[in-house]
Amino acid sequence: ILHNSLVELRGNIRVHCRIRPLLPFDTASGHSVSQDRHRKLSEKVAHATDDETVLVKCNRPGHTLINKTFQFDRYNVCIMAYGQTGSGKTYTMLGPQSEDDVTLSIEDELELGIIPRATEEVFRLISEKPPGSHWVEVSVVEVYNNEIFDLLAKDSCGRVFGVKRDVVTTKEGKSDVPLLTYETVENAVEFLQLVDKGLQLRVKHPTLVHAHSSRSHLVVTLTITTKAVSADSFAPLWTDEESSPRLSKELFCTFPQQVKDDKLLFPSRASSPAQFESTEKLKHIKTKLQLVDLAGSECVGMSGVTGVALRETSFINRSLSALSDVLGAIAEQRSHIPYRNSKLTHLLQDSIGGNAKLLVMLCVSPCQKYLAESLQSLGFGTRAR
Ligand code: ADP
Ligand code: MG
Repeated sequence: ILHNSLVELRGNIRVHCRIRPLLPFDTASGHSVSQDRHRKLSEKVAHATDDETVLVKCNRPGHTLINKTFQFDRYNVCIMAYGQTGSGKTYTMLGPQSEDDVTLSIEDELELGIIPRATEEVFRLISEKPPGSHWVEVSVVEVYNNEIFDLLAKDSCGRVFGVKRDVVTTKEGKSDVPLLTYETVENAVEFLQLVDKGLQLRVKHPTLVHAHSSRSHLVVTLTITTKAVSADSFAPLWTDEESSPRLSKELFCTFPQQVKDDKLLFPSRASSPAQFESTEKLKHIKTKLQLVDLAGSECVGMSGVTGVALRETSFINRSLSALSDVLGAIAEQRSHIPYRNSKLTHLLQDSIGGNAKLLVMLCVSPCQKYLAESLQSLGFGTRAR
């Protein structure tokens, strides 16, 4: 996904789509459906016809024919995975999962998720810079039932446990989570160990759709600090696009925040350090890369949920529609962007809109069983771009 990098920069929001392959559980037969109906339900209806087009073609039994195409940007990089449960969001962001060791156990490098790839690349770039000029801090949070949990907070024995935090707007108009735990990491392995720790705490709940459905949004943030003593010695990581064939330009653009005298600058435009005037006054520049594995976007009726799970689902639906509203408002260039309607959008405020670049990876299941969900996800992506 991160290979094939030469895509010209267009808008600030790019949407890519990944249709996962048909999997054994797609074709496992259910209890209450006839063989014939079952065969229809596991038919493949979502196809990528070329690099930029998704075709959903379906002859629903006794109903109208669906034959719809959706245009997307080329398969490339992603920062936020959107889709129903079981469509491949976590697979896309983290890679294949084993029970206890989430991100570290991947043998097939081609199947590495975006989070390990992106961090490895960040550390590779840092290794080319003067020693000590950059450092990386990590935070891992989940948004569950519209509440924010710090997944790296430690108790007095050093064990991590999820602590509730809140998101606020600073007087500079940025989003901030007071008391959030940031851990400094020296390399990708350390980073992934931390993410694994956080992930062990992530709330999971079995629904009828998928036994390991995540009921929360996961937000992993890398904060990269660049020491800038003078304009000459200032060597920001993200201007170094040429030397990074493995990672597209776009990932550089997902480093959204560069704070200087309370202004946001967009790093990929900074072709030379000189563009940051008066760097002498600068001590540090902070850049944020947020990587998000969203909770499942399926509709309530589909998952057959009640009680606690219904409550979870309605919070998920509300936060995803708040996200859709934010992306819609940005797409329509409205002056008011409703970030504060949910904790999720408030938390991501700095990396969505303004000068930031957001990449959405739509995850789509190929089979007819999930036709409604796939169309909903594709519609979400189409509205956003
Ligand atoms: P989600 O996070 O959207 O709920 P997962 O990432 O957990 O979905 O994927 C559901 C199942 O499908 C997992 O067993 C995963 O290994 C498998 N899967 C998802 N995407 C792919 C893919 N591109 N190739 C192979 N298997 C996949
Ligand atoms: Mg998942």
